[in-house]
Amino acid sequence: MSQPAKPAPQPAGRASAKKELPEHFKAYKHVWVFIEQERGHVHPVSWELMGSGRRLADKLGVQLAAVVIGPKGEATQAAVAESFCYGADLAYVCADDVLTDYRNESYTKALTDLVNTYKPEILLLGATTLGRDLAGAVATTLLTGLTADCTELEVDSDNSLAATRPTFGGSLLCTIYTLNFRPQMATVRPRVMSMPDRVEKPVGRVIEFPLGLVEADIVTKILAFVPDRDKATSNLAYADIVVAGGLGLNSPENFQLVRQLAGVLGAEYGCSRPLVQKGWVSADRQIGQTGKTIRPKLYIAAGISGAIQHRVGVDGSDLIVAINTDKNAPIFDFAHLALVTDAIRLLPALTEAFRKRLSAHTRDRIAS
Ligand SMILES: Cc1cc2nc3c(=O)[nH]c(=O)nc-3n(C[C@H](O)[C@H](O)[C@H](O)COP(=O)(O)OP(=O)(O)OC[C@H]3O[C@@H](n4cnc5c(N)ncnc54)[C@H](O)[C@@H]3O)c2cc1C
Repeated sequence: MSQPAKPAPQPAGRASAKKELPEHFKAYKHVWVFIEQERGHVHPVSWELMGSGRRLADKLGVQLAAVVIGPKGEATQAAVAESFCYGADLAYVCADDVLTDYRNESYTKALTDLVNTYKPEILLLGATTLGRDLAGAVATTLLTGLTADCTELEVDSDNSLAATRPTFGGSLLCTIYTLNFRPQMATVRPRVMSMPDRVEKPVGRVIEFPLGLVEADIVTKILAFVPDRDKATSNLAYADIVVAGGLGLNSPENFQLVRQLAGVLGAEYGCSRPLVQKGWVSADRQIGQTGKTIRPKLYIAAGISGAIQHRVGVDGSDLIVAINTDKNAPIFDFAHLALVTDAIRLLPALTEAFRKRLSAHTRDRIAS
């Protein structure tokens, strides 16, 4: 008896996907970066993204635009001017006092209206609290794809955005494409991309865009701004020197040895995830895939094994010094300097040695 013919096997992965971009999306051109400003302060991740955006725009042969949304006035104008110094060819500006404080509703309207009017092919935002909230709402409203927490952004051979991010608990990297929709949206966490050089430049072409919304249209009201007093003022992501401790330190008391060394070096302190889970250290000090990404000039890791989820947060450090009793610890695979010894004994000795040698002036110089 003859066997029924088997259907031809579908090619796996991307090859089986429908690649043809619908006609109405073909007009989408140029790369945009959302410039995140709050209370007159631009989040540095916006400038880091301008560096990535510039590279993508150059590869695609298109323009790089900054998108500045905020209240009328000096701070918004300053953010626009600064965006040119970080490589913008032009800036879209939606300035309205309704936009003084971030609210999802008003910012989503401003950004989606801008996208629908000027049609960018790529839209990048920082994976900050604000950026994550806004990106999700904008992608949902536009019915397009969003790849969150990317670690790499590239242009593929067919000019689509290849957005790479960790998956399966950080043990694998996957590259995600938005094949049939535009814009292709991605968020990137602070410090994942390097900061581009700032070049003094006059303000370029600015396209003003009206918000088309009044205060009465917005359901959410800001009654007052109360800063979180419990929020540690850690500048971990942007610190030049970071000292961190892991489970190898054995107790919260021993973790104080990390804080003491950090204090003498004028450094920030951090930790691996289990220390946060045990309640020894606050969550804003966690370094790694689900914590902060750091790019210091010097990173000292004491009693940290170097699991992949920790590694992805420290890979951008200039000099990694690891202290671990186990000479086969994975951290030694990527540390620049390996100290195979007991961190509980070495840390106080290091603190004392640095205390003797470093004046406050020298500490400032190291960190500058
Ligand atoms: C989805 C997911 C997300 C995660 N995100 C993160 C993240 O963001 N950040 C993060 O750090 N982890 C994260 N993890 C956890 C990660 O997989 C590891 O479990 C964790 O990093 C291990 O922490 P550790 O190195 O402190 O502890 P361990 O792996 O237990 O390592 C302790 C190390 O200390 C050494 N040691 C022991 N005694 C001493 C001593 N006296 N002196 C010196 N060395 C000593 C040991 O040899 C060992 O290498 C995540 C895991 C998952 C599944």
